Amino acid sequence: KRLILIGPPGSGKGTQSPIIKDEYCLCHLATGDMLRAAVAAKTPLGIKAKEAMDKGELVSDDLVVGIIDEAMKKPSCQKGFILDGFPRTVVQAEKLDEMLAKQGTKIDKVLNFAIDDAILEERITGRWIHPPSGRTYHTKFAPPKVPGIDDVSREPLIQRKDDTAEVLKSRLEAFHRQTEPVINYYNKKGVVAQLHAEKPPKDVTTEVLKSLS
Ligand code: ADP
Ligand code: ADP
Ligand code: ADP
Repeated sequence: KRLILIGPPGSGKGTQSPIIKDEYCLCHLATGDMLRAAVAAKTPLGIKAKEAMDKGELVSDDLVVGIIDEAMKKPSCQKGFILDGFPRTVVQAEKLDEMLAKQGTKIDKVLNFAIDDAILEERITGRWIHPPSGRTYHTKFAPPKVPGIDDVSREPLIQRKDDTAEVLKSRLEAFHRQTEPVINYYNKKGVVAQLHAEKPPKDVTTEVLKSLS
């Protein structure tokens, strides 16, 4: 399967991804994770992306299309993939369709994590992450057994620098202005499944698996 997850920051894309990935043996490509790794490693890509990311703005289409093009060539992605956080603009969606058309494939489903903005600040400011595994916790909704420590590896959790109420505002603005039109783009192709992303995680999982069956 070739899937896209679209939703505002905090809508639950990263939480549902591992479940979908394991169910269908797909590779998980999250442009945000790749960009944060590049920033941490101070690669040329990371240096170019950092300023926009810190402000909660999108990085340029060329940069992200380049990393996705590269990542999709991995052997583990040949059976199918989950794109999490990409495409974020209509230009990125068009470029993606071109890349897939060259391989004679296309997107099977776009999962739209629909949710009210009002819920997201609490989700984002309470988020704790274990970057090596991608496991996500929440101080209130999914607390780790020991505060600040990953349940499985016992390694420390981190909070993202852009997970503040203030940066969230620009991230939401970018979502509504630049990413919502992408949902419309795929609606016209008839491949969008609507999720009720404000529901508890288990209920969202049920909806996801139903929409993919
Ligand atoms: P995204 O990848 O879309 O930005 P995450 O999956 O990281 O969002 O979720 C953001 C935060 O909200 C995390 O701390 C996560 O534990 C929590 N969360 C995810 N899904 C739900 C849900 N359905 N209900 C309550 N909290 C959730
Ligand atoms: P979120 O929790 O908001 O879904 P991500 O981890 O997907 O966050 O993205 C974090 C930041 O990385 C974004 O605010 C943006 O600056 C950058 N970014 C990630 N993916 C893209 C993309 N497809 N296009 C442009 N910028 C991106
Ligand atoms: P308490 O009510 O014990 O003072 P909080 O209100 O700070 O705790 O947090 C509520 C839940 O979030 C607790 O179950 C706790 O395990 C979890 N939690 C607290 N701090 C962190 C942290 N740094 N990272 C992840 N989860 C945390």
